[in-house]
This record gives sequence, structure tokens and C-alpha cells, in this order.
Amino acid sequence: MKTQQEKPKVDNHFLIVAAEVDFVDRVYPTEKACFSEIWRRIRPNKRCQFCGSARLKLKFGNRIGNCGRCGKKFRLTAGTIFRKMRMARPYLVAIRLCERGIPCSARLLSRVCNIAYASALHIFNMIWGAVLKAMRNDGVLVSSFEFNAAICKRSLETPAQKHPVNEQEHAQEVNSESAVNLEEEFAARISVFKPELNLVTESIASADDAASTPVAPCPERQIYGLLSSEPRSIDDLVALSRLEAKVVIATVSILELTDLATLVSGNRVVLSADRLRAQQPQVDSQTQAHVGQFVWFIKKFFHGVSRRYIQIYLAAYWCFIDRIRWAKGAVFEQCCKTAGVDLKTFVSPLNLQFCFA
Ligand SMILES: [Zn+2]
Repeated sequence: MKTQQEKPKVDNHFLIVAAEVDFVDRVYPTEKACFSEIWRRIRPNKRCQFCGSARLKLKFGNRIGNCGRCGKKFRLTAGTIFRKMRMARPYLVAIRLCERGIPCSARLLSRVCNIAYASALHIFNMIWGAVLKAMRNDGVLVSSFEFNAAICKRSLETPAQKHPVNEQEHAQEVNSESAVNLEEEFAARISVFKPELNLVTESIASADDAASTPVAPCPERQIYGLLSSEPRSIDDLVALSRLEAKVVIATVSILELTDLATLVSGNRVVLSADRLRAQQPQVDSQTQAHVGQFVWFIKKFFHGVSRRYIQIYLAAYWCFIDRIRWAKGAVFEQCCKTAGVDLKTFVSPLNLQFCFA
């Protein structure tokens, strides 16, 4: 009897990536060749930092050269993403994959290039960080709450014993422009919460009647009005609201109980995630569809991201989806132009830049 023969499983995605590695190996067979390719790309825009001369001489195989005019030393990779590069080949492979629009996780790159996972992750983060620099003013702002489905990895920013999604409550608004938008949004929203607020006002008013201390007509609203995504200390709230400290503390606990505010580390108060989310502008259906695609993209190739670095993965998504903008040579050029982002201090803002066309 003939039994059905089991076909060996072939990972197509792996084969596609391996073919690109093979291509890089054929065009740049040695580390020297990889290096001179990077030099060739950096060369056109490289100037001496002391005299501005373009007559730069590089000792072959060395990353330091001399200026042909003033004779001072220059570093080839300074100001580019290659500044901490040990081996050039994995960089070329990663850039090639990005330019061809082939998604590849750091795990896969570490496998095909035979390097450590951390190095592979660093290479991709540097490249996408450079792409991110080109993202300014090019996309729409979408709140990171929309991407909750993709966020499942921890980072140093994740609060202890909480899901990575909770980082958002602690995320500080870095973009001052969107902070202004938040304030406007808040003014519109506060009228919606008015009944809710009146309810808590009554409760605190009756509690304060017993103590017979004069209170402001609506301390909740006053305190709530002072809250934002930026954590504020109780002392700050006392100073800003000019209310008694005990009233402020009581009000904050009421706001916390009604899920309007959250206490974070250092006894500071922020708006609760629910309220922050409610403040975010609604996204249109087209953006919503792309958010869904991004989540699929992340789950399929990266299994998940941390909230801290999600902005970098949004840049990666843009790079893979916009095949005209990031066609051959564009990613390499961008990598030679910028130093990328400082990964040690990078934290994704609450409103993320999202490009999809
Ligand atoms: Zn010079």
C-alpha cells in the first residue's frame, strides 16, 4: 500500500531572506568590499568637520582618515548609523532587506548572518531609527492606544507586575504641539463628564459640611482640569489649585475611585488611561484599517513589540509598505545621512507618527 509521503516543510520566508544574504555575499564577498561600499555611499556628502573640504583620504580598511587640506583626522562613520559598527556585512544585509521590502526579525537576521541577537536588534533599530527621522510631518498622529493589540513585550518603562500596555498611563507627553491639542480636547471633553463630576462634588460637599470648612464650588473639576498625561505631584496640585492639602488629597482619591485619575510612582497623579484614551481624537476608517494591518504585520514577523519602541516599528512598517519612497538606495542614503535615534533614551510618545502611503 502506498502511504502518502510527508513533504519536508520549507520555510519560504527564510528562503527569501537567505537569497538576499546570498546576493549581498556575491556582490560584496569580503568585509573590505562591504566597507568600501559604505565609504562609497557616505563619500558624496562627507566634509571635513574643521575646514569643510571634500578632499578626504581614507586609509584602506581603516575607519579614520586625513583631510587633504588641513591634514586633520576625520572619522568615516561619525554622524551615521554605522558609528558603532563592528562588522559591515550584517548592516548591508539588513539594509538590502529593507530596500527590497522583505520583513525580517532580528532573530532571523542573527541566524542568517551568524551574529548575536542583540547585535541584530541593534542594527535594525538603527536603520529604522534613521527611517523614523524622515517621518516628521509625513504621517498622521495616532494614539498608541490604537496599537494595544501589538504591544506585548516588556521594556524598562513597563511598570512592575503590569501588562506592557500599562506603560501608556506613565508615558509622558514629549511633543509640546500635541500637548496643546490635548488641552483643547480636554476643554471639549470636560462638559461630557459634568454629571459624573457633579455626583462626586455632592459627596465631598456633604463630607465637608461636617468639618464645616469652606470649599471651592467644584474641587473635582478644578483638580481634574489640572491633570494631564504628565504626572503631577500632590504638592503641585495644592499650589496650583490653591485648595487645602486635605481637600486635594480627598479629591484625588475620589477621582481615582471614579477612574478619572491614576496615581503613579512618586505619589504623582495623571489622568487615567481610560480618560486619556477618551481624549484622543477618533481615527478614520482608513487609518483604522492600516492600524489593523500594522498589528498583523507585527504579529506575523515580530510576534509583538514593547510600547517603548513601537514608534521604531511604525517606521519599519512604513519602510515596508511605501515601496516608492523606500526603493533601491533610499534606505542606504538615509542611513548615511542621519545618526538615527539614541536607543538608550528613546521612548515612543503617546501620539505616534503613523505613515502608510
Ligand atoms: Zn580639513
